[in-house]
Amino acid sequence: MATTINLICQRCLEPAATDIKADVQLWLLRDEARADRLPDDADFLVLDEDGRIDLADALEDELILALPLAPMHENCVVYPVAESEDAEVEAPKRENPFEVLASLKGRTEKE
Ligand SMILES: [Zn+2]
Repeated sequence: MATTINLICQRCLEPAATDIKADVQLWLLRDEARADRLPDDADFLVLDEDGRIDLADALEDELILALPLAPMHENCVVYPVAESEDAEVEAPKRENPFEVLASLKGRTEKE
């Protein structure tokens, strides 16, 4: 499964379209007891009484696991390239995107 979502580029803090790929292998079980027969690391979903599952939820979980910790533009340019001398460029501070999200969330909740 592959998709493209906008994540905040950790260098320039602009949205960056990021390709996410997740290898999803889900076993669909009618009965949770059958999970015993699956390999230990197998992911499985148990169908509800109507034989349905919340696939969107399951896929969302898989995608979240596949998110890069520090998304960035493939060719991100923030500052003009110094052509003179050996200008030392400070490494951009990398923030954990989840911390950024958490702080944003906290901010909106206070209002
Ligand atoms: Zn960028």
